[in-house]
Amino acid sequence: MLVIDGGGGEGGGQIVRTALTLSMVTGTPVTIENVRAGRAKPGLLRQHLTALRAAQEVSNAEVTGDELGSRTVTFSPRTVRGGTYRFDVGSAGSAMLVVQTLLPALLSARDASVVEVSGGTHNPMSPPYPFFETTYLPLLRRMGAKISSELVAAGLYPAGGGLVRVEIQACPALGALVLEERGAIRAKRIRALSSRLPAHVAQREIAALVGLLGWHDADARPEVVTSAGPGNVLLALVEAEHVTEVFSGFGERGVRAEEVAARVAREVRAWLEADVPVGEHLADQLVLPMALGAGGSFRTVTPTTHLRTHVELLRRFLGRTIDVREEQRSAYRVDVANR
Ligand code: ATP
Repeated sequence: MLVIDGGGGEGGGQIVRTALTLSMVTGTPVTIENVRAGRAKPGLLRQHLTALRAAQEVSNAEVTGDELGSRTVTFSPRTVRGGTYRFDVGSAGSAMLVVQTLLPALLSARDASVVEVSGGTHNPMSPPYPFFETTYLPLLRRMGAKISSELVAAGLYPAGGGLVRVEIQACPALGALVLEERGAIRAKRIRALSSRLPAHVAQREIAALVGLLGWHDADARPEVVTSAGPGNVLLALVEAEHVTEVFSGFGERGVRAEEVAARVAREVRAWLEADVPVGEHLADQLVLPMALGAGGSFRTVTPTTHLRTHVELLRRFLGRTIDVREEQRSAYRVDVANR
C-alpha cells in the first residue's frame, strides 16, 4: 500500500484525484493521509468525493473514508472496466475534474466507455469545458487516444448544473508527445460567455481585453449561454500551428469586468512572452498522460506547484523521472522519460 501525504506539495484536491488515477491505472492500492490539509476547509469536498466514488465504480475498488470532510482515504482498485457511467457532482463542483480523474483509467480498460458527469462545466480553479475540448483533448488524440466530448448543457459557476458527455475508446498504449514549439499563430479569439447577466458585462470585458492585449484584429464576441443561474466566463483562445491554448477568467459579484480582463491578459502575456507552446495549467495536466504513455517533452512557462506535485506523484507511483529545467528566464523544458 502506497502512502501519500495529501498535505504535501500543492496540498489540495489534485493530489487526491491524481493518486486515484494512478492507483487505478497501475493497480497499486493507496492511502491518502491529510487530505487537502493545505486548504482552509480541509478534507474531501463534494467534487473530490464524486471523483472518489466514480473511481471506485469504474475500478470496483475497496474504499474507506468516502464521506464529506474525510481526511484519510484508502483505495484498493480491482480491474478497470469500460462501460456506461453517470456521475453527479451534486453542486457546482467541477464536472471536468471528475472526467479527468477517470480518463486515463478508462483508456487503459479493455472496452470502450461513455461517461456523463453533471455539475459545473465552467468553474474557476479548474479546466473550463472549452479548455478541455480545445486544448487538452486534441493533445491526447495526438498521443493516439480516441476520445470525443460534448457539452450537453453548460453549468456556469456558481450554480453549476451542467452536463458533459465523453466517449472513450480503449487505448492500450499512449504514444509520445513532443511539443517544443508553438508555431505561427493562426487565429486569436475572445469569447465572453454569460448567462442571465446584463449584456454590458460581456461587452466591457471584451473591450478591456482587446485593449490590454492590443488584439484589435481578433474575432471577439459575447455569447449568451443557457445555464442554471447567472454566470460569466471570459475566454481568450490562441490557435497556433502546434497547439491551441485557452485562457479563462471568471466574473464575480464585486469584481469589475476590467479586472477580470486584466487577469486573463496577464496569463496570455506571460505565455506569449515566454514563447512556449504549453501554458501553466496545461503543463500540470499533460505530464500524467505522457508519463503513462511513451513520454516526450514540452516547453512551458514557469512551473506551478501543481506541476511540481504531479511530478512527485508520478515518481512515487511509476518510478518515472520527469526533468523540469529552466532554459531561459520564464521558459522551461519538461522531459518525460520513456518507460
Ligand atoms: P482544492 O479545492 O483543493 O484547491 P481542486 O480539486 O478544486 O482543489 P486543484 O487541486 O487546485 O483543484 O486542481 C485544479 C486543476 O485544475 C489543476 O490541474 C489546474 O491545472 C486546473 N486548472 C485550474 N485553473 C485552470 C484554468 N484556468 N484552465 C485550465 N485548467 C485549470
